[in-house]
Amino acid sequence: MDRDKGVNAFNSKAAKVMARGDTADVVIVGGGIVGCTTAYNLARRGARVVLFEKDDIAQEASGRNRGNIRLQLRDRLELPLVREAIALWQRADEELGMSTEYRTTGNLLVTYHDDIAAGFAAEAERHRGLGIDARVVPRDELREHVPDISPDIVAGFLTTEDGHANPQKATWAFATAARRAGADIRTGTRVTSLMIEGAAVRGVATDQGTVSAPVVLNAGGVRAPGLFVPLGITVPITPAKHQILVTARLPLVTRPYLRCAGPRVSFCQTLEGTLLLGMGPAQAVGFDTSVSRVHMSNIMRETIRLVPTLASAPVVRAWTGWFEMTPDDLPVITEIPDHRGFYICAGFSGHGFALAPAIGRLMAHLILDGAATHPIDAFGLDRFAGAQRDAREHTPASVISRLGRLTAEGLH
Ligand SMILES: Cc1cc2nc3c(=O)[nH]c(=O)nc-3n(C[C@H](O)[C@H](O)[C@H](O)COP(=O)(O)OP(=O)(O)OC[C@H]3O[C@@H](n4cnc5c(N)ncnc54)[C@H](O)[C@@H]3O)c2cc1C
Repeated sequence: MDRDKGVNAFNSKAAKVMARGDTADVVIVGGGIVGCTTAYNLARRGARVVLFEKDDIAQEASGRNRGNIRLQLRDRLELPLVREAIALWQRADEELGMSTEYRTTGNLLVTYHDDIAAGFAAEAERHRGLGIDARVVPRDELREHVPDISPDIVAGFLTTEDGHANPQKATWAFATAARRAGADIRTGTRVTSLMIEGAAVRGVATDQGTVSAPVVLNAGGVRAPGLFVPLGITVPITPAKHQILVTARLPLVTRPYLRCAGPRVSFCQTLEGTLLLGMGPAQAVGFDTSVSRVHMSNIMRETIRLVPTLASAPVVRAWTGWFEMTPDDLPVITEIPDHRGFYICAGFSGHGFALAPAIGRLMAHLILDGAATHPIDAFGLDRFAGAQRDAREHTPASVISRLGRLTAEGLH
């Protein structure tokens, strides 16, 4: 879509609503994929929604991610959400009337190490036990998936139902469909504080005026904790920097999203043929956006080791973004105790793009019906108060770590 036209359309509508005197049923803070899918679902159900985005749609994590829609090594608590999300992604283009470039690609985890490969069979069986199509790919079949993969790779672990979408296009598609359904999307407007009366939220103040609403959703991604500070509430969501390199368009390199279990380089090939390359772990260096040349060469070195023919692949761009990490890698999705009408949906810890269509639907149900579409008890804020669950039971990091006693934090 023509982005400039999109922005102007959003803002000119906003100006009219400002003039009407500002009330809404629901205010959403944040024009990332979570804010936009929620706005879409709420507006479709007839709620009057105002969404504020301080910059533009998909400027932060939602526009900087790699679009991997992963079932593989997904925490069991998120599994129902990702299953529903995949069903929604499959029909998103038709429903939204715009392309998200969604397609089924699968996820392939590969290794150079026999001790890690030895654990793949049990992992595949565990996945099948959860109803996920999964299998071990022996060395001599790897080239069916990645034609030029290094002969040093000893085996792979494949799940076939995972998918891929274009993050920018998808977020804009949801924003545009939300607007068509009646949501008022105001870009270039920062929410500066909440308006609170007694134990209930009454709306928000922005750098361009106030809007009254009985419900406010904080979908501010890694910046979500900021609005809680004046309330004396600590939300443990912190940034971890992840760097992406983009190659020129190439002939087929990989069909599935390809990840290596130590060194943790990974990449996918977009519909247009570019590769999006990255390597974990993400770095906890605060709100730093610098692109590191050293990290670029490390990513390239390990990519070429994995697929030697990529030695001649031109790298055309690089960027960084922040994973929005919580202590247990799970999101925070809840109404805030003692602040009726104030919700948070953030902290997806580097894997929230995949879930977003289901999350938008869940939030609309939670807000309008008082009941979520899936259990969310595990996603409350109270879990950070006391002893934490054995959180990393089946996260990518824990499983790889278990398989090969490698630290695999940041394997996203
Ligand atoms: C490099 C990278 C790769 C990733 N790869 C994947 C992947 O392959 N698959 C996957 O599932 N996930 C991936 N992720 C994670 C995924 O991008 C995020 O989990 C997801 O985009 C979070 O969406 P969000 O809407 O919660 O947050 P965001 O996209 O960060 O959106 C929040 C928005 O809120 C706005 N905002 C904040 N505060 C205010 C305020 N006070 N007023 C107005 N606006 C405000 C911000 O400007 C921002 O636009 C990756 C992330 C990164 C950085």
